[in-house]
Amino acid sequence: MSVQHARYVIIGAGIHGLSTAWHLATRLKATGRGDGRDVLVIDKKDIAAGASGVACGVIRNNYFQPAMRELMAHSVDVWESDPEAFAYHPVGYLQIAPEEMRADVGQIFVEQQAIGYDSELIEGSDACRAYLQGMFSDWQAPGISVVLHEKRGGYANNVASMRGLAAKAEAEGVTIRTGVRVTELSLDGGAVTAVRTDAGDIECEQLVVAAGPWVRDVWAMLDLPSHISVTVPDGTVHPDAPMWTYWALQEGTLDVDPHEFTDNRGQLPPVVHVDSAEPLYDDVDGALITDEMWGIYYKPDFSFGGVQGGASPLRLDRPADQIAVDPYGPESAEFVVGEDFIRMWTSALAHCHKRFEGKREVYRREPTGGIGAFTPDSFPVFDTFRQNAYVIADSNHGYKMLGVGALVAEELLGEPQALLEPFRFSRYSTGQLHPTSHSPFPWS
Ligand SMILES: Cc1cc2nc3c(=O)[nH]c(=O)nc-3n(C[C@H](O)[C@H](O)[C@H](O)COP(=O)(O)OP(=O)(O)OC[C@H]3O[C@@H](n4cnc5c(N)ncnc54)[C@H](O)[C@@H]3O)c2cc1C
Repeated sequence: MSVQHARYVIIGAGIHGLSTAWHLATRLKATGRGDGRDVLVIDKKDIAAGASGVACGVIRNNYFQPAMRELMAHSVDVWESDPEAFAYHPVGYLQIAPEEMRADVGQIFVEQQAIGYDSELIEGSDACRAYLQGMFSDWQAPGISVVLHEKRGGYANNVASMRGLAAKAEAEGVTIRTGVRVTELSLDGGAVTAVRTDAGDIECEQLVVAAGPWVRDVWAMLDLPSHISVTVPDGTVHPDAPMWTYWALQEGTLDVDPHEFTDNRGQLPPVVHVDSAEPLYDDVDGALITDEMWGIYYKPDFSFGGVQGGASPLRLDRPADQIAVDPYGPESAEFVVGEDFIRMWTSALAHCHKRFEGKREVYRREPTGGIGAFTPDSFPVFDTFRQNAYVIADSNHGYKMLGVGALVAEELLGEPQALLEPFRFSRYSTGQLHPTSHSPFPWS
């Protein structure tokens, strides 16, 4: 097989690989430094074959970490730039939370105002109940003290949005080769000189790694360590922290007409995310499911064909090198959701809305879910390694991060981006980690 060449090789045709390819092609042309023909995306399977193709597709700003919020606001701008191509539904987003999270959510609201992100804050249990019943007449969850209503964001259809993104990249001249697996990287003088694939070697000047849950494998090909030293903000050093930890995302669909979940005006509601400190009881037999803090999210979704959503992910307690990422998503017999999720999620829906009482029997019993690779602090790493390998490791935050590729493209052309600065790998040694919230989710 003859050696091939591309100036920019991008591993992965998911949200980050495709967004980077599209923006890079545009910027190369605009700056007279090349065009899309300089950019090659390779994927071992297909467009949207990874996490981007199974994601629930929720797009929100609601993060306790200021750097995450600013980044998400930038990404929402990109989603809004072409809703049709990205199959984007700008219905907004509701964070509904108990007293334990009131201060955190209030702080998010104040900081959203400071960056001009349109949202509304409702505080106090009576005001929250009135607001939620004004939207959903059957709202019934007790113990809610704060509601943050983001007027932007919403959700997009996973595979359709990736196809729209791929079409934009290809229209700029980018080549997307599917069914080509990267097996090794050639390093010379500390830099990547070629990617070795099952379809031959491809020489490159710059590599972009956008391999989603498979980042562990490409990280190893770059000869980067499986364990690192992490300094936390109080100065404590964890000398041997695993670089990658896998979590299983728990999501499923209630097989009802999506129109059954409209608001009081008959309109599509915002995506709903509820965190609660109330005991959660089984909707069928009344047994206690948990008296610890829990959370769920849900939305009517015409592409999933029902009310679709999820609950807190499960941390896989095996070391990363013992996790089989393939077969991925619903094709994995090991990591699809089980009865515990179905019981918890359907009971939580019933806890919140009268209309979902007794609906467990219409839960769609099909394989769902997928795993994600999380970093030591569960926040993204966007950085250059080995001189010319740009790694986009989103720590499973990333379907919503459509704009990251635009920023990465600027960095590849030599323009450091302030929005990406807080996500450098060096934070693990300096201790400049992101603040953490009281949410039961590892990603808030
Ligand atoms: C069930 C689930 C629900 C989620 N819901 C949301 C959500 O609602 N909102 C949100 O913001 N995020 C969500 N996420 C997270 C989000 O999906 C991911 O963070 C994001 O899609 C990762 O994008 P990516 O481009 O990095 O990787 P992927 O989309 O996984 O793409 C990586 C690609 O790389 C290819 N690849 C891997 N290794 C190789 C190799 N050696 N050679 C060639 N190709 C290779 C794969 O085939 C794959 O297509 C969810 C994740 C899961 C699992």
